[in-house]
Amino acid sequence: MKVLKFGGTSVGSAQRMQHVASLICDGRKKIVVLSAMAGTTNSLIDISDCLFNKDVVNASDIIAQLKKQYEIHVNSLYGTEEYKRKAWDWLNGCFERIESFLVGPFSIFEEKVVVAQGELMSTGMMYYYLQEQGVPAVLLPALDFMRITKDVTPDSDYIKTKLQALLQEHPDTDLFITQGFICKNAFGEIDNLKRGGSDYTASIIGAAVDAEEIQIWTDIDGLHNNDPRYVSNTTPVRQLNFDEAAKLAHFGAKILHPSCIMPARENNIPVRLLNTFDPQAPGTLISNSAEKGCIKAVAAKDNITYVKIKSLNVVPIHQFLSVVFNTFSQYKTAIDMVTASETGVSVTIDDNSCLDEIVVALQKYATVSVDTDMVIICVVGDLEWQNVGFEAKIVQALKDIPVRMISYGGSSSNVSLVMKAEDKAAALEALNANLFLAGCGNNE
Ligand code: ADP
Ligand code: ASP
Ligand code: MG
Repeated sequence: MKVLKFGGTSVGSAQRMQHVASLICDGRKKIVVLSAMAGTTNSLIDISDCLFNKDVVNASDIIAQLKKQYEIHVNSLYGTEEYKRKAWDWLNGCFERIESFLVGPFSIFEEKVVVAQGELMSTGMMYYYLQEQGVPAVLLPALDFMRITKDVTPDSDYIKTKLQALLQEHPDTDLFITQGFICKNAFGEIDNLKRGGSDYTASIIGAAVDAEEIQIWTDIDGLHNNDPRYVSNTTPVRQLNFDEAAKLAHFGAKILHPSCIMPARENNIPVRLLNTFDPQAPGTLISNSAEKGCIKAVAAKDNITYVKIKSLNVVPIHQFLSVVFNTFSQYKTAIDMVTASETGVSVTIDDNSCLDEIVVALQKYATVSVDTDMVIICVVGDLEWQNVGFEAKIVQALKDIPVRMISYGGSSSNVSLVMKAEDKAAALEALNANLFLAGCGNNE
């Protein structure tokens, strides 16, 4: 059994849905995870924002525009009136759910129900398209098996039991379609796996069914050695190990959801990144096999806050670090990067929701300064100590860019640097020129 995930652009129009159908109808057993059609989740978030602000007029406007788009999709996807009607009945159910929130209270709970409709719409459309084509397929409702715990991690045992029971109800079916991104939470409410979460769904499902491979189909030929949205001349990296891929996902390579490598790594299931628009292209294979001695790729994580904490010497020096870390932990705020000296420690965080409280708590022991709007640039590869000189190449590449913090040694697969967001594009270009175009990398 394989698990194949198709992202928003891959199912972004009727023609693209038809193309995806041609890729998945090969008679082999598979679970297909679909994202919402490109742009839909953004529109649903816009509708929710209006409803938060009690702006029913604009919310209704966006709903009407979305309906029009889906009318066009339905008219070009299906050949028969019967299936146009079936699909439209399904979509109408989704739109009615959204419209039910035009009156009454609107909170984060209702927002999650609204946002969930995108994946429900795309999977329903694909399911009816396959039916119209005479392809036997089963639509698995993700809300019946995908659940997160109170700690917001996948409820693996529950997912495995529920999903396997659902699959066993259809022993003769080869093709299952399900929604990415959406789930229930520990209280039985509709929730989601955060933006880009369909990758994570695919990996969680892969682990639950012990898949032979998880395929992430998107709009580019695999993971590139730098962010193609900011840097020209990037090239695909053909092979990554789980650790390298997890680092790149965590540190901003948008092609992968930050957590999606974890379930695959824990179960040793290879992940293949493939291009829907060029299905023959080799893409990237992520597995546990490591290539020695090369720098693989660079990624950047936005919206980073840098916190510099200098001791006032009111607690003994051996207690200072634990006081600092306990304070962040007390406010459930994860630290991304750390550097320390005998008198102080600097950290980065990507969640500012408790920052004011943290600063007040730390000020009993330290002077604290905060810089927002920073980025972490992360260089990933086999950076074991035998691989001499790579740090020099990284630092040399950034010689004209002010760097606030450097972290190396926490893992043997990455070096991370903190700088201002305004320097991100120049830093990515400079690293590309020095690490890859100058022939130091080893991607192909
Ligand atoms: P999908 O909708 O299929 O999930 P995403 O937009 O989430 O697709 O991810 C694919 C996009 O990720 C690419 O189009 C590219 O712009 C962006 N991206 C950022 N960093 C990288 C990288 N290192 N390699 C490949 N793509 C990247
Ligand atoms: N539709 C969701 C989003 O746009 C999930 C995904 O595409 O992976 O974030
Ligand atoms: Mg994505």
